[in-house]
Amino acid sequence: MGKHLVLVGGGHAHMTVMAKLGDYIHKGHRVTLINPSPYHYYSGMGPGALSRTYRPQDIRFHVAKLVQDRGAHFMQDRVIRIHAADCTLQLASGDMVNYDVVSFNTGSGISLEIPENSDRIIPVKPIINLLKGQKRIVQEVARHPLKLLVLGGGPAGTEIAGNLWGLMRNLEKSGEITLIAGSQLLKTLPSRVREMAAALLKKRGVEVVEGLHVDKISDGEALLSNGTRIDFDFAFASTGVTPSPIFRDSGLPTGPDGGLRVNSFLQAPAYPEIFGGGDCIYFQDRPLAKVGVYAVRQNPILYQNLFNALENLPLTPFHPQKDYLLILNMGDGAGIFGRGKLIFGGRLAFWIKDRIDRSFMREFQLCGEKNEPENLI
Ligand SMILES: Cc1cc2nc3c(=O)[nH]c(=O)nc-3n(C[C@H](O)[C@H](O)[C@H](O)COP(=O)(O)OP(=O)(O)OC[C@H]3O[C@@H](n4cnc5c(N)ncnc54)[C@H](O)[C@@H]3O)c2cc1C
Repeated sequence: MGKHLVLVGGGHAHMTVMAKLGDYIHKGHRVTLINPSPYHYYSGMGPGALSRTYRPQDIRFHVAKLVQDRGAHFMQDRVIRIHAADCTLQLASGDMVNYDVVSFNTGSGISLEIPENSDRIIPVKPIINLLKGQKRIVQEVARHPLKLLVLGGGPAGTEIAGNLWGLMRNLEKSGEITLIAGSQLLKTLPSRVREMAAALLKKRGVEVVEGLHVDKISDGEALLSNGTRIDFDFAFASTGVTPSPIFRDSGLPTGPDGGLRVNSFLQAPAYPEIFGGGDCIYFQDRPLAKVGVYAVRQNPILYQNLFNALENLPLTPFHPQKDYLLILNMGDGAGIFGRGKLIFGGRLAFWIKDRIDRSFMREFQLCGEKNEPENLI
């Protein structure tokens, strides 16, 4: 008898499942996707879209259309509770959805307390925020020079700073850009990458503040760990991510970061009908960095294991790679490439990243996204 597969979150780890879900339907199963937006924006090209290297239509997937075209049901909604004992999901709208098999790809959010109703603080996730922030900047910089703050000196914050500079350059406007890096810029990356990024930002006039954290932020002002206050027109919050809180809120087994605890089959050990991938999981064999690379690599495993779970077939393990290629988009066509001992900067580094990102987009932009109007939803 046909079963009901529910996909929660149409993120990077569910792309193959969504593109090939005709295979499940062909076997007599029903599929539902629940996602707060009809679109999913690809994070790898988010900073590039901020600086207008890419248009919004270049970096997003129409996930609603993707699944509907293949015979699945789309619900524009958000899961707020998982009642695992009853195999039921509670949605923000108040609806309840039953599942036989469910897979979560709900990503992560920024780990900084941001005041409600703030319209000058832009959390860098979800990625659509970068595009909405860019629109605000473009409007306001026409009236006066801007003070822009980037909070967090990890890869995302570094790319945001580089691409804010790129945006100002494209607009031929001036602005002050300050990056509050925490203890050190790119502290988890090789020293050569750090030095290259620091030198490039300095050359462009971006001020990088190391050794200080943001303790508190309000609309227009950030309080740093040494008591200094910095005012800003717009601040991009990129202070690290934590998995979506629904698993902890629902009392499911989680890792220390609150991510859904999964085994090597990307399956919750206590609930074999629950699966997950991407930033929202805690891979219990070896905690993984919250990078899209792992979410992308989990695609074929999730596709296979969801199929096999529906069909009562044996599951396939996910073997995460030890290290991964990292290429920073530093804005204005410049990049920094790092894999093992091979590290270099310049246009070639960005060119390689651009090729990889565009090929991912080509694989899953199956609904004419590039020809759509720009509307940001
Ligand atoms: C600025 C920036 C640049 C980055 N660049 C790179 C890069 O170049 N390379 C790299 O490897 N990594 C990069 N990362 C990291 C990368 O963003 C994440 O690792 C990646 O997004 C994880 O993918 P995901 O599908 O798990 O989550 P997400 O991309 O966050 O997708 C989750 C989806 O679930 C939906 N959702 C959330 N909550 C719910 C809910 N309760 N119910 C239903 N749906 C829900 C969301 O709307 C979203 O569509 C970058 C991160 C940032 C912030």
